[in-house]
Amino acid sequence: MTVPLPETADTLIRVMLATTLPYEDGALTYRIDKQELSLAEPGQLVSVPLGKRQVTGMVIGEAAGIAPEDKVITFKTAIPYDAALRLTPPMQKFLNWVAQWYMEPPGAVFKMAVSVPSAFTPEVLPTGYQIVASPEQASTPRRRNILTALSDMAMLPQSAASIHAMTGASASTIKAMVAEGLLKEAPMASLPSSPLSGLLNRQKPLTDEQILAADQLTAAVDAKAFKAFVLDGVTGSGKTEVYFEAVAAALRAGRQALILLPEIALSQAFEKRCLERFGFSPRLWHSGLTDARRRAVWRDAIKGEPMVVAGARSALFLPFSQLGVIVVDEEHDHSFRQQDGVRYHARDMAVVRAKLSGIPAVLSSATPSLETLVNAEQGKYEHIRLMNRFGEAGMPEITLVDLTKTPTERRRWLSPPLVDSIDNALQNQEQILLFLNRRGYAPMSLCLSCRERIVCPNCSAWLVTHKSAGQLRCHHCGHFSRFPEQCPSCDVEGMIMPCGPGVERLAEEVAFRFPDARQGIFSSDVITTSAKAEAFFDAVYKGEIDIIIGTQMIAKGHHFPGLTLVGVVDADLGLSGGDLRGGELSWQLLTQVAGRSGRAEKKGRVMMQTAMPEARVLQSLVKDDRAGFIRAEKEDREDANMPPYGRLAAVILSSRNDEKLTAFASQMAMQWPNYEGMTLLGPAPAPIRLLRGQHRVRFLIKAEREVNLQRAIAQWLNEVKIPSRVQCQLDIDPVSFF
Ligand code: ADP
Ligand code: ZN
Repeated sequence: MTVPLPETADTLIRVMLATTLPYEDGALTYRIDKQELSLAEPGQLVSVPLGKRQVTGMVIGEAAGIAPEDKVITFKTAIPYDAALRLTPPMQKFLNWVAQWYMEPPGAVFKMAVSVPSAFTPEVLPTGYQIVASPEQASTPRRRNILTALSDMAMLPQSAASIHAMTGASASTIKAMVAEGLLKEAPMASLPSSPLSGLLNRQKPLTDEQILAADQLTAAVDAKAFKAFVLDGVTGSGKTEVYFEAVAAALRAGRQALILLPEIALSQAFEKRCLERFGFSPRLWHSGLTDARRRAVWRDAIKGEPMVVAGARSALFLPFSQLGVIVVDEEHDHSFRQQDGVRYHARDMAVVRAKLSGIPAVLSSATPSLETLVNAEQGKYEHIRLMNRFGEAGMPEITLVDLTKTPTERRRWLSPPLVDSIDNALQNQEQILLFLNRRGYAPMSLCLSCRERIVCPNCSAWLVTHKSAGQLRCHHCGHFSRFPEQCPSCDVEGMIMPCGPGVERLAEEVAFRFPDARQGIFSSDVITTSAKAEAFFDAVYKGEIDIIIGTQMIAKGHHFPGLTLVGVVDADLGLSGGDLRGGELSWQLLTQVAGRSGRAEKKGRVMMQTAMPEARVLQSLVKDDRAGFIRAEKEDREDANMPPYGRLAAVILSSRNDEKLTAFASQMAMQWPNYEGMTLLGPAPAPIRLLRGQHRVRFLIKAEREVNLQRAIAQWLNEVKIPSRVQCQLDIDPVSFF
């Protein structure tokens, strides 16, 4: 007699966990019940036990090879979430791609895609009541009237509260009607989260130049194939109006659209523009959302609901399953680069995601990054240009104020020519923006007795005076202290002097020189919420502010029709610094600031105070010679084999123990295998030698474009053993070098 073998009750699967595991695929093996096998497809999200925790995972496939019978390992059970919660194959590929490129554990990248744990359990819908009989079937006239009053509501279950509001029926009457079979309990439908009305038709006609641009984008969206575009147009040329057409095309096709914006640009003004164009607000995605909102956006994204998401960089990791287009607005902006955790660049990865999803990507900017321009030149990206400002607005006239010829007074920061122009503008009741990219009162404080500068106890950085708060603050680690009476070094009292200007100090000068003018500071210390930003803009629109004093926060995307004069208080900030992109960054920032002026009928003026009037950046701005500036920057980079012609990667070592760190760094340098086409620079003390109490040392690896930089670094790091209490951070394609 043969005994049938017991049927195996389950199957083994590999699951990638949303946490950092020391395995290359970031995965572990789990069992899954056989009847749930249909939920074991790659991409399916599951819940799995890990030690005492329950974590989210993603199925990556069946586990090959079963443990030998004499060595049975009991695997823990994976519990699938509902079938809708599955990442598409392009999304799975995208997550892997990001992990490999930035040399991050796959689980750490996956975690960014499942950042809303509350979204995994289905919504519990509140109970409502639905009509299941006609009024004639009611046993009393009262109940008949109730049914008649509700008949408009057709099949939609209503809450007891709304039935009471419509008919006056009490809870007990409703219960009785359920018992009589006139009503039945039913879950209420969740409200459609963003009704996409039929307002996809454009209200404002586009100009010829805009139509040409928009047609290229919509054709690409309709073609449902990858293509990358640079939408390159002067400030105010209508880039937003143009890419809205691409968004509309995606919506018409029943698909989803993602617009990435620098966080600060996610203003109500942007929402309003979407509302005007589409008839509904975009779904927002940024760090300040409530969990309920995050949950709703995440679930609609994975369910493939047609939607427009306007979000900060992390929105790129939303699990859209029907994405039709990705727009990156202000693509040159460095805030698209995440600087901790997984150090990714959302603009670069947006193009990768578009490619893997077979959809177009649109990179929009008035000052595209050199990387993007070179990609366009090499034919990788389609270059679309908008040369004209919309409507009457002309480009502002830019002049330099040579501070070596017309210096400012001692401890003052506005030179006579700028003061005159401000006076003029005030007399004409026009608005003025004074731009100074320095928060606080003074960037540095010096003791006049011992000549020591006051530095942060945790960082090798000067403490910044914030006079309104009566504090010294570190802009790197957040350390703060009361403004000291006596010098921390020599103990002498009353000799500490703030040096240099910040926006607060500039405001003092403005108040002194123009006592009748109304002024407002726009910096991250003052404008801490979007509500405060809106209130500020409102005051500007209403003409309640004459002089705006702002940091780079004010530079982006805002329209101030009454603004005619922009004064750049220190155009040299950022010009010396040795950062590879210093010149480019400065050019972008100054162009953006200049673009704030003269956006309506009145001609705009920009005055830039400088002690280096011959600097390339400034000359190119005055002569309106962008092409010349770009050409010269490109030549410099090409000669030095710097990005975008060569590649860079940084390795940052940090430790509380300086000696251990230095010893290990030189040992690491000795173990560098001298790869061909690559140069190791360093170890060198980081520009911020001490950060949050950690000593820091940097390596920079320069490589030819063609070599596999990541593989070389991986091999090198495999050879060295990183001691405990030394941290090693990788920064692939770095954009900052502190
Ligand atoms: P950019 O994004 O290039 O800075 P915007 O799209 O913000 O330019 O356009 C600048 C201003 O001109 C906005 O107020 C916008 O509403 C307006 N505008 C641009 N194109 C048109 C158009 N075709 N019809 C009406 N208004 C337009
Ligand atoms: Zn500090």
